[in-house]
Amino acid sequence: MQTENSSTERGEPPSGNSIQALKQFRSAGRGFWRDVAETDWNDWRWQMKHRITTVEQLEKFLPTLTPEERAGAQLSNTKLALGITPYFFNLIDPADENCPIRQQVIPKIQETHTASWEMSDPCGEDSHSPVAGLVHRYPDRVLFLVTDRCASYCRYCTRSRLVSNASGYDFHPEYDKQIAYIAAHPEIRDVLLSGGDPLLLSDEKLENLLSRLRAIPHVEFLRIGTRIPIFLPQRITPELCAMLKIFHPLFISVHTNHPRELTTEVRDALGRLADAGIPLGNQSVLLKHVNDDADVMKALVQKLLMCRVKPYYIYQCDLIAGSAHLRASVAKGLAIMEKLRGHTTGYAVPTYVIDAPGGGGKVPINPEYVLCRNAGRVLIRNFEGKIFEYPEAPDGRPCGRPPEKIEESQLV
Ligand code: SF4
Repeated sequence: MQTENSSTERGEPPSGNSIQALKQFRSAGRGFWRDVAETDWNDWRWQMKHRITTVEQLEKFLPTLTPEERAGAQLSNTKLALGITPYFFNLIDPADENCPIRQQVIPKIQETHTASWEMSDPCGEDSHSPVAGLVHRYPDRVLFLVTDRCASYCRYCTRSRLVSNASGYDFHPEYDKQIAYIAAHPEIRDVLLSGGDPLLLSDEKLENLLSRLRAIPHVEFLRIGTRIPIFLPQRITPELCAMLKIFHPLFISVHTNHPRELTTEVRDALGRLADAGIPLGNQSVLLKHVNDDADVMKALVQKLLMCRVKPYYIYQCDLIAGSAHLRASVAKGLAIMEKLRGHTTGYAVPTYVIDAPGGGGKVPINPEYVLCRNAGRVLIRNFEGKIFEYPEAPDGRPCGRPPEKIEESQLV
């Protein structure tokens, strides 16, 4: 079922868009870096040191740069930074300007076009931040922002105001204050480390941070949100996994958008994390020309299960400034969900959510399966469109009618 790709030794990008072709596991290959020593290539610090960060490097490695991309890359030291690991760069198809990998990490001048409804902090994190670098929006959990660095920079990043420090955002997390706040709030039972990417911290620093959090009796559950296994699978060393497993229950959410990101290297890295007993989930962002297609999404979620990762969320792209060219419609998202639910393994079906603009939190969005409901019965339809009646239990209550008109004052 799983196939290796010998052609990647030649540094060729994968091709083919059928579900089966997309589900094949291939190595990213070595591309321009074929003469680099194996030990260097597999060293995550080497990968970080040799990232593509300037327009000049980009032009050298990607001669097919479009005028929009060149203009965007020229601004990358004043907007969200440009940074691509050599490993991840090898997944870009230079012959395809619509390559889904390329769309995610190569800047475009359209990032400077901001619509009136776009925001620099679309999830309202700053207004729910009791101390710098800590977001306390939901009652029993906090988001702990540990760094403003990432291995590569996604062009639609919700935290582009923060990551890469390109916009001069004042990010100086003081771990003592963040930890003191968590310790002083017994209602916090779940801490999500994110950023930037927490797995860019050294093993020692991360161990220290996790130890301090584990020492707080009411913290039941730790999570790490990371794109490192995808951008930099070399970072998932046996030593890192051995350290992380000390801190169970510890979950990791990775972030993958397209099945081509799931290479043999990524599959092996995720396997090391899973072997350390870490439950793995995936968060995808619905992106135009990347994964706004039911076949692509189906290949992604099925391939994730093959990597022992549960597809967790599909996010509607946040209203981040300069992201309109990457934002797919909610209608597309719903159509994709319609083609997943019932059509593939239930474990493979993520929850599609909109993070309510301004800080309302995640709201699940689903195709309508309940056609009507009253005190006596529920009318439902299945994935094939067949309609069924289910008798309501005696304690069932009639559904309140939706308001016929929503007053402007009800809108947040
Ligand atoms: S890895 Fe996450 S935090 Fe970093 S740029 Fe991408 S979306 Fe933003």
